[in-house]
Amino acid sequence: MSKFICGENRDQSTLFPESLEDYVGEENTVRVIDVFIEELNLVEMGFKGLTLKATGRPKYHPATLLKLYLYGYLNRIQSSRRLETECQRNIELMWLLGKLAPDFKTIADFRKDNGDGIKNVCKTFVEVCRRLNMFEGAAVAIDGSKFKASNNKANNYTPKKVQFHIDRVEKNISRYLELLDEADKEQVNSVKIEATKERLADFRNQLKELHEIKEQVENHPDKQISTTDPDSRLMKTQGFTRVVSYNVQSAVDTKNHLIVAHDVTNVPDRGQLAPMTKLAQEALQKKDIMVLADKGYFSQPDLKATIELGAEPIMPKTDTSSSEKKGIFNRSMFKYDADKDIYICPAGNELQNRMQVFEQGKYLDVYFNCIACRDCKIRSQCTKSKKDARRIRRWVHEKLTEQMLKKLEDAPELMLHRKQTVEHPFGSIKLWMGATHLLTRRFKNVSTEISLHVLTYNFRRMITIMGVRGLSNAIRAVLQ
Ligand code: SF4
Repeated sequence: MSKFICGENRDQSTLFPESLEDYVGEENTVRVIDVFIEELNLVEMGFKGLTLKATGRPKYHPATLLKLYLYGYLNRIQSSRRLETECQRNIELMWLLGKLAPDFKTIADFRKDNGDGIKNVCKTFVEVCRRLNMFEGAAVAIDGSKFKASNNKANNYTPKKVQFHIDRVEKNISRYLELLDEADKEQVNSVKIEATKERLADFRNQLKELHEIKEQVENHPDKQISTTDPDSRLMKTQGFTRVVSYNVQSAVDTKNHLIVAHDVTNVPDRGQLAPMTKLAQEALQKKDIMVLADKGYFSQPDLKATIELGAEPIMPKTDTSSSEKKGIFNRSMFKYDADKDIYICPAGNELQNRMQVFEQGKYLDVYFNCIACRDCKIRSQCTKSKKDARRIRRWVHEKLTEQMLKKLEDAPELMLHRKQTVEHPFGSIKLWMGATHLLTRRFKNVSTEISLHVLTYNFRRMITIMGVRGLSNAIRAVLQ
């Protein structure tokens, strides 16, 4: 007959006491965390608290707290209070920190005060990966993802929302004033009148606050304010919902799916292509990189800026023409003849380059043919104007867009490649974060928090690729 597996007797003494080393296997992740942090020059990285004062209480070494954070983020333990608890009961942490157990305030303050140092550690790990040839021959895929900020939607105000609340409170004030009038006439008891007056005073205070908020919203450049985390913004997310969030940008290598560069913003993706390309070039120490992005990044000035940086951007073009909504021929029905520098319209007429205008920060050539349009039989399908000819605007550097679209047409698999590359890191990071939002507030602190997530993601990815022992040896070889 089989038996249950029995544990050891708690009172059993051993002749040779076991050491912490016995509980941590050779392939345990804590070993590579230890190697990496020990090899870092924390003074160069910009960590505070490395110089000791002659007097005062002893401090924890930044390496101890850095190891704790890297372990915590790798194991989905991000809050300082939970990290404090883990230090007291987790054998892996006891091994890693030499049984030190800092309190939650010390842990939280370290993250708050060492943002620059933590970002430099994240960059150093990318540099380690670069020196291990992880990015050899890789392109870079850029994408943004919204991370929910520590700011409730109710504490975010836009002009429309503030006006809605003002109207609601004003209605309530009118209603309560009417109630007071009626109470006066009907001689209702004084307790009820006092309660109504108190409620009325509350509404008046609310109205005063709302008018102050309205003024702040109107004076704000973005025309919105968030009261809990002032740097967060209400942004569109997938499924057309709106969430108060930060837009985290990342550049991911297409070969090993490592995050090469990242940045925390509170603006949409458009306009982020060139800045992210620059960060990726610095991290890869290489200018001629292929940069893949989705159509949300398409912006003509940004495209030109990226090419001028020496990179090769590839992304689909967004159709911003409103012609179809107006019920007239779409701009795409006008074909450009580069040799003659003319457009051929749907009626087969030639529209010549007549003038140049400067609109929305760009120089545009304007093409039209007054005589052809005047006598055109399908004019009603082409323009809503009774007297003016149909005009086609062309960016003076449109050739750059056409060359890029041609490359994309020749290699349509690049967009699939981009999607498969860039969605992996954000998916993983959000899964590890769980259902929670960002734990910190303001740009400075959120950037540190995201750097820790990125460092952890890359660290975990490299362990998957090389194994604990392989990565430990590689780190030693690169950083020693
Ligand atoms: S209205 Fe002018 S541009 Fe439009 S189809 Fe006719 S000729 Fe061509």
